[in-house]
Amino acid sequence: MKIKTLLALCLSIWMTALSAQSTYIYCGNLINGKDDKVKKEMTIIIEGNTIVSVEKGYAEPSSRTAKIIDLKDKTVMPGWMDMHVHLEGEYDQNSYLNRFTLNDADRAFDAVGNAHKTLMAGFTTVRELGGSGVNIALRKAINSGDISGPRVYTAGKSIAITGGHADPTNGYRKDLLAYPPGPGDGVADGADECRKAVRQQVKNGSDLIKITATGGVLSVARDGHRPQFTEEEVRAIVETAKDFGIKVAAHAHGDEGMQRAVRGGVASIEHGTMMSEETMELMKKYGTYYVPTITAGKAVADSAKVKGFYPEMVVPKALEIGPKIQGTFAKAYKKGVKIAFGTDAGVFPHGNNALEFIYMNEVGMPVMEAIQSATMGGADLLDVTDKLGSIEKGKLADIVATQDNPIENIETVLDVKFVMKDGVVYKDE
Ligand SMILES: [Zn+2]
Repeated sequence: MKIKTLLALCLSIWMTALSAQSTYIYCGNLINGKDDKVKKEMTIIIEGNTIVSVEKGYAEPSSRTAKIIDLKDKTVMPGWMDMHVHLEGEYDQNSYLNRFTLNDADRAFDAVGNAHKTLMAGFTTVRELGGSGVNIALRKAINSGDISGPRVYTAGKSIAITGGHADPTNGYRKDLLAYPPGPGDGVADGADECRKAVRQQVKNGSDLIKITATGGVLSVARDGHRPQFTEEEVRAIVETAKDFGIKVAAHAHGDEGMQRAVRGGVASIEHGTMMSEETMELMKKYGTYYVPTITAGKAVADSAKVKGFYPEMVVPKALEIGPKIQGTFAKAYKKGVKIAFGTDAGVFPHGNNALEFIYMNEVGMPVMEAIQSATMGGADLLDVTDKLGSIEKGKLADIVATQDNPIENIETVLDVKFVMKDGVVYKDE
C-alpha cells in the first residue's frame, strides 16, 4: 500500500472515531414518555449514547456509516424504570437458610444473572432497595461494562430499628446475637445512631437511603404493620441524607408508620398497604411518591399457600397484607397521589417486573399512565429527568420496544423485543 493511501485510510478512521456512531431507529409506533398520544412512523436519531433528534417519518441517514434499526412493526418507548427491586437474590424455600450459608461472592454471582434478566425484560434503570451491600459492587460492574444490567441506583443495606423489618438477625438463636448489629450494619435506635447509620451507608457508596418504617411481611418477626422508628428518628435520617444530597425511601405497610415517614420528609412510600385517605392527602401535600409493588403483594400471598415456603411466622402476614396492595393502589391513584412504578422484584422472580403494568391497569390506571409512571415517574423520583425518562433531544438513549401496541394489547409488555441502554443494543429480536 502506498504511503499516501495509508495516510488517507488512517485519516478516515480517525475522523470516524471523532464523530460518534449515528443510529437511526425507525419506529412504527412511538410512545415518548411525556405525550399521551402514540405517534406513528417516527425516527429517533442517536449519536453515541445521546438522542439528538426525533423526527416525523422515516428519515434518510445523512451519512453512509449510520446504522439503521428497523422497528417499523413495533412500539418503541423510553427504557422502563423499576423503583423497587432487590437484585442480590430471589425468594424460595431456601431463602431463610441462605442467610447462614451464602457468602457475598455467592450473592454477587446471583446478582449478575438477576441484573441481566431485568435488563432483558425492558428495565434499563432500577432503584435497588436494599440487600447485603453487594449491590454497590454490582452497580460498579455494570457501569464499567463488565456485565450487562440496568442502571442501578442503590440503597446498599436498608436501615431498621433493633428487631425491625430489616434487622438482619431477626429470629436467630442467642449465641448468634452475642454482637448485636449496630448503625454500621444498618440497625439504629435514637436520632444519633440514625445519623450514623445514614453516614455509613453513604460511605459504603449508597446512592439513596432505604428505611423500614413499619414491620414487614417476610421478616421473622411477629408484626407486619406497626410503626418502627419515631418521627424524630425519621427526621434525623432524612436531614442527614439531605446533607449528602440524597433521598430516602420508606418501606411501610401500616398507616401510623407511613404518616411519620411522610411528615419526616421521605421521598417515597413503598407498598403502602394500609394507607388511609388522610395519609393520601398528606402525601399529596408533601409531594411524596407512592411505589405500590402490587406484583410482590400477589406473589407473597400465593407463596404463603405453599406449605413450607415461608416460616410459620411469615404465613399469616403474607396472607393478610399481600392481597390488599392492589386495592390501595386503586384508591391512591384515584385520589391523585403521585405514582412511580415499582415491583419488589426478588420477592418474585426477576424479569417478571412488567406484570406490574397489567396489575395497575386492571384496577383503573390507563396503560399510557402506567408507562409514564415507569418512565418520567421514575426519572422524577430519582431526580434524573434531565437525562432519562423520555425520548427527546438531549436525553440518553435508553429505549425499549414491544411487538404490539401496549395500549391495544397490554400483555405485550411481557415480551420485550428490543432493548437499548446508553446507546448500546442489548436485545434485538
Ligand atoms: Zn422490598
